[in-house]
Amino acid sequence: MTGKKIIKTDVVIIGGGGAGIAAGIEALDAGAKVIIIEKGAEPGGAAITSGGGCLIVGSPLQEKAGIHDTPDIAFNDWIKWGGASADEVWARYYIEHTLHDLYHWAEKNGVKWVDLKGQEGNSVVRWTRADDSGYGLMNKLIASYKAKGGNLMTSTALTGISREGDRVTGITAKSGADELEIAARTVVVATGGFNSNIDMVFEVRPELKTGRVMEGSGVGATGDGHKLLRELGGYFTHMDQIWFYVYSTPDYRDPRGRRGLAFRLVPGYIWVNQQGRRFHNESLSGGGTGGPAMLAQNPRHAWAIADRPMLANMTVADPYYQTGEKPKRDKIEELLENSPFIKKANTLAELADKIEVDQATFLNTVERYNDAIAKGLKNEPDFGKPLGASKAFDTAPYYAIQMFPLARKNFGGVKTDIRCRVLDKHFEPIKGLYAAGEVAGMAGGHINGQAGLEGTMLGPSIFSGRVAGGWAAEEAGHGQGFVGKANR
Ligand SMILES: Cc1cc2nc3c(=O)[nH]c(=O)nc-3n(C[C@H](O)[C@H](O)[C@H](O)COP(=O)(O)OP(=O)(O)OC[C@H]3O[C@@H](n4cnc5c(N)ncnc54)[C@H](O)[C@@H]3O)c2cc1C
Repeated sequence: MTGKKIIKTDVVIIGGGGAGIAAGIEALDAGAKVIIIEKGAEPGGAAITSGGGCLIVGSPLQEKAGIHDTPDIAFNDWIKWGGASADEVWARYYIEHTLHDLYHWAEKNGVKWVDLKGQEGNSVVRWTRADDSGYGLMNKLIASYKAKGGNLMTSTALTGISREGDRVTGITAKSGADELEIAARTVVVATGGFNSNIDMVFEVRPELKTGRVMEGSGVGATGDGHKLLRELGGYFTHMDQIWFYVYSTPDYRDPRGRRGLAFRLVPGYIWVNQQGRRFHNESLSGGGTGGPAMLAQNPRHAWAIADRPMLANMTVADPYYQTGEKPKRDKIEELLENSPFIKKANTLAELADKIEVDQATFLNTVERYNDAIAKGLKNEPDFGKPLGASKAFDTAPYYAIQMFPLARKNFGGVKTDIRCRVLDKHFEPIKGLYAAGEVAGMAGGHINGQAGLEGTMLGPSIFSGRVAGGWAAEEAGHGQGFVGKANR
């Protein structure tokens, strides 16, 4: 027989991903006693598998590269890109705090920022990557949390949030066969998004049920926190705003047939639809225009076409296929050979037949592209894709990797105020209850709006985690709440 174990703490945090670990560090720094519970065997969440890129404004790396950037320039880009549904208050708050309270703060916790990359919608380059991407970033933050004395309970899943009167008083959880009760002064929910629960995706986007959509967030991003927050009266907003990606193929090893594998570093590849035609500038591969372009195809899938040399450096963002940033070549070869969603042929004509597209149209598509390269054009004429990284399709075997829309990032979630207190339908805080990260639409409920400038998921998740941790500690009797230092 197993009994219920009762533990007491100041702040309990649900989820050991980007937001949860940042919340933990902040609450510990404020002097609170903290427990993080994480349902996975290892902490890190989607954040540890991520590209590790954050939108950061006015950074030393930008300065070094001679890039002039200010919070005003970034805010204008943000609102233009995200549209009317972007949360202006949270966007401004995040942007102004990225320099001191994300860049320098992360450095103090061991993180090294290494390079910058341009992303769609940004008028200057500001996507800032941590050393060894999300893997490096999160391992440093997790190590810092542990070094400060934080308690991290893995393989422990939230089952309920306790409430007495109008106050949240702790949680219940399950760890193996053991049931736990954690009594806490405040609770921070940082359980991530719901894009690894396709049923929840279809609930908010029923029109997508007609075709295959793949689960594409961290494996733990199944919407557990959403359900419990809803039961407590949390107000959810912009739930249908989901960022879809193109460059992913079904994980044939997933017995449920639901997970997608995102693959990268296939320079010069082209995407063709079932009509055998290209439909987008493949260099704009993110959720901004790439995702919508794929969703507009009929049928709603596409084929990534590559020849053998183009696949030499292919990476697959999944722990089975890489350790940190280091690809496991043998596993990637195994995928290319065994996946029923990947076709291989010795000629382009044979490939067209294997993927059942009209041979003449397909060959014409590839020929036009090869022709643009032969002419030495800077951009191909149909969609304006820069050809700098491209080569002609000329080396067998040729490959076609079938791609379906991948649900990756949730831009909507539970609404919070600027202290990350969860708001009810009257927009009043639920006492003792905080939410940060993707469960809160990355921060506040919908910080991005309908589109993100990239780096605007991980960055705001970590930042809102800090804000939530600071104020949760304050409500529990420790520290002054999150203050930070704005870059004005
Ligand atoms: C492959 C990939 C690449 C990405 N790259 C970038 C990028 O470069 N830049 C960017 O801005 N964004 C990126 N993102 C998005 C970004 O990683 C996420 O938005 C961010 O990690 C969200 O942080 P979070 O803490 O809210 O959620 P997560 O990091 O997912 O953490 C949530 C944690 O909660 C745990 N959890 C869930 N339910 C329970 C429960 N019931 N009990 C206990 N624990 C629970 C989960 O297991 C998980 O560990 C990427 C996402 C993916 C999937």
